[in-house]
Amino acid sequence: PQTPAVKNEPISEFRPGSAETLSLQSTMDHMAAQQADIPCFIGGQEVRTGQVENVVMPHDHSHVLGQAHVGGHQELNQAADAAIKAQKDWAALPWQSRAAVFLKAADLLAGPYRNIINAATMHGQSKNCFQAEIDAACELIDFLRFNAYFYQQIMEQQPVSSPGVWNQLDWRPLEGFVMAITPFNFTAIAGNLPATPAMLGNVVVWKPSGTQMLSAYIIMQVFKEAGLPDGVINMVAADGPVAGAALLPRPDLAGVHFTGSTPTFQHIFAEVGGNIGRYHSYPRLVGETGGKDFVFAHESANPIAVATALARGAFEYQGQKCSAASRAYIPSAIWPEVKAQLVEDVKSFKMGSTRDFGNFINAVIDERSFDKIKSYVDFASNAADAEIVVGGVCDKSEGYFVEPTVIVTSNPQFKTMQEEIFGPVLTIYVYAEADFEDTLELCDQGSIYALTGAIFAQDRFMINHMADRLRNAAGNFYINDKPTGAVVGQQPFGGGRASGTNDKAGSALNLYRWLSPRTIKETF
Ligand code: GLU
Repeated sequence: PQTPAVKNEPISEFRPGSAETLSLQSTMDHMAAQQADIPCFIGGQEVRTGQVENVVMPHDHSHVLGQAHVGGHQELNQAADAAIKAQKDWAALPWQSRAAVFLKAADLLAGPYRNIINAATMHGQSKNCFQAEIDAACELIDFLRFNAYFYQQIMEQQPVSSPGVWNQLDWRPLEGFVMAITPFNFTAIAGNLPATPAMLGNVVVWKPSGTQMLSAYIIMQVFKEAGLPDGVINMVAADGPVAGAALLPRPDLAGVHFTGSTPTFQHIFAEVGGNIGRYHSYPRLVGETGGKDFVFAHESANPIAVATALARGAFEYQGQKCSAASRAYIPSAIWPEVKAQLVEDVKSFKMGSTRDFGNFINAVIDERSFDKIKSYVDFASNAADAEIVVGGVCDKSEGYFVEPTVIVTSNPQFKTMQEEIFGPVLTIYVYAEADFEDTLELCDQGSIYALTGAIFAQDRFMINHMADRLRNAAGNFYINDKPTGAVVGQQPFGGGRASGTNDKAGSALNLYRWLSPRTIKETF
């Protein structure tokens, strides 16, 4: 049997006053008036530990959306035990049956749960309706559907046989449980990291981010309603270090599927690698981590296209995408035009609550993040070799609001050109055309990361030259486009260097990491 024809989920436009806008707003109002009581899910049971943390709206932090029950050592180990218990039966199902669960989950998200998952992402993670729609609805649906399609393609890959000999690949899941650790910034990633290994026959303990609990809860409800058997995916909200201390030492750890910070992933790598003898198998470590994503323009670039890419690539979702443009190299010849357009665009962005669909900018995720971003803005405003050309105001009195901020520096090694800020702060270095080659070198070596990057040029030879010079500077490389918004099945996503293991989410490459094929030779 073939999986259904796969195409990307269409994106709603949410025009003012349209039926889809009114319907989403009504779901938002209903959700905002409730208090969610978010349990852990262990072996199919909802577990309320009584140890709760408030879930608040980042753009209105006095508004409590509910409480999430937090697990400790005991719940995390119970979750891993429940996963191991579920493993044999789940792995023994035909692959189509496992795929069917996630295809049904995709249909539920596309249908009855669409407004709910969008509203939870808008309230809980402060995404505007478009950012929620492309993430929580479309990208998550795409991940689930495309994974089923890739899975089928993998199953069809079989070796050559000959008369008297039949060779087969038995595409087994890993032995043991997979730990999925997910970030706040994409509901799609939160759903995909546990779902991908699970579809392939693995069992999972999922630790979501503490600042994404409302949409995480809905994802678990969808998986359950789609018929996911008990224990296949267990969700436990927990403190990161507690989760690591409880689960990383277990000999039955089969892998870690991670998106988050570089230091945390490096800690996991060291912890696993430094104690490798204790595991039954070599755990698969798949991680997507930080970024310091660049936009590099050549003097032949269209200045308006560059400005638009900077405005959208740096400030959509408050710059809290791993892929967000955060450093730019612009030649002095086109800088006046780029600057004029960029400042105009940024000034036109409205900032505020996600309930008003006219707001392009909402809040950053929490106080810790706000304080960190503000410290970079303050640093730039006091530096002799930098100037803030637009933005710079930070206010956390009602919500964690940081104005989209553009810093221009005369120092290409300036702190905000190198360090990941994870907020709406873009730093620009204006270079003299004579320094073009040296500036390309600076761009390549200017940060430890290599996630996304974009070049702008109209000169064909320059496009090729820049792409060649920056070959290892980004895992997702854009020519004349912003460096964000990779689409499942179209631009497989991931980067190298300190940005991760580059196991390309949204492609078959990621699925292979969760399979351990057995080669079978049968002779007649
Ligand atoms: N895939 C997203 C994009 O292309 C970024 C994912 C992330 O932030 O981890 O914008």
